[in-house]
Amino acid sequence: MNTTACLKDNSPLQREAGREMVAGVPPVRRHAPEGRSRLAALTKGSSPGLYPRLDPRTVARVAEARLPTEFGEFRIIGYRSLNSEEEFVVLARGDLTGKRPPLVRIHSQCLTGDVFGSIKCDCGPQLRAALEMIAAEGRGVIVYQQQEGRGIGIINKIRAYAMQDEGADTIEANERLGLAVDLRQYEQCAEILLDLGLSHVRLLSNNPEKLSALEESGLRVVARVSLEVEPSAAASNYLRTKKERMGHLLKLV
Ligand SMILES: [Zn+2]
Repeated sequence: MNTTACLKDNSPLQREAGREMVAGVPPVRRHAPEGRSRLAALTKGSSPGLYPRLDPRTVARVAEARLPTEFGEFRIIGYRSLNSEEEFVVLARGDLTGKRPPLVRIHSQCLTGDVFGSIKCDCGPQLRAALEMIAAEGRGVIVYQQQEGRGIGIINKIRAYAMQDEGADTIEANERLGLAVDLRQYEQCAEILLDLGLSHVRLLSNNPEKLSALEESGLRVVARVSLEVEPSAAASNYLRTKKERMGHLLKLV
């Protein structure tokens, strides 16, 4: 595998020097308000309505490297939002430009589930299942969106968990804390996928909002690939709420 690890900083010289081809992902200009970006060029000749929100761009690819994992080797790519403090981490694998649209997951950060093995939710098993499926196909992308607790942050999430300990469901807990049920937005995740050269994807998700957000941002979701894992007893109420009150497409609860 001729993956090139290239860590880039933000200086123009480094950007120029670091623009190698990285394992199937075409190099993309970091941000080119002064010229036509590759994405803007993509809009030429596209169907009307495709890629409606890409000019001006709102994310920048700022760093990338090899990342060997227990699921095999990925490329890890860092993006920064150009209109907020948000950062995104992408794990990408294989040639993303082939004919068959690759598997894609937009995974919303869940410290408790992804890192600590919490069984109050299905996030950790979903992330691992996505990594396994992408590893099995040898190609695909995970956009790791750092919007903890559907955007409320880890401290508020702990507060909401305390209310759930008293019997509230995940929606009631957020409402009692005066917090939105779901603050997440996916447009910049879509922009990242477009920046990686994708136009058609197979989306690993049970969340219809993610699907429609990607479509509205100009990506074609040719298939939704269910990512449902056997629910733990501790997660079943949470997942039932997601299914019944948030429209998630779940069959096992
Ligand atoms: Zn979770």
